[in-house]
Amino acid sequence: MTVSARAIKAVCVVVTAAPRTLGDALVQVGCVAAAWPNLSASQRHRVRVAAIGLAGLTDTRRARSTGTTVSLYDGEPAGLDTEGGRYQTLCEDHSTVVAHTTLRAARSWLPAPEEWCDACQAATARKGAA
Ligand SMILES: [Zn+2]
Repeated sequence: MTVSARAIKAVCVVVTAAPRTLGDALVQVGCVAAAWPNLSASQRHRVRVAAIGLAGLTDTRRARSTGTTVSLYDGEPAGLDTEGGRYQTLCEDHSTVVAHTTLRAARSWLPAPEEWCDACQAATARKGAA
């Protein structure tokens, strides 16, 4: 069984809300638990990112190439300066932010922080020299 994009969006909205009562919290857990077995790996990733609940956070992952945590933000809901580009990649370990004009570009740079974070680049160079 597959879960529609609309249903995933609903689950993401549910996990983003802060529960007011224990009953609300149990409904949230029940909602996610009901959907979870039918979600693909990428759908589960989306729900996990939504559960973090930061405005504008679009994706967060550990970069395989560097081992650092990298995140992608939509600068408008996140309230960031979007003059250089609406979509921003962030190396969480080194606090490096780079703006991109399109979501597609930001997504393509996200898994390779050694290309846009100076500290990651230096660490990768050291690893290569050793
Ligand atoms: Zn870095």
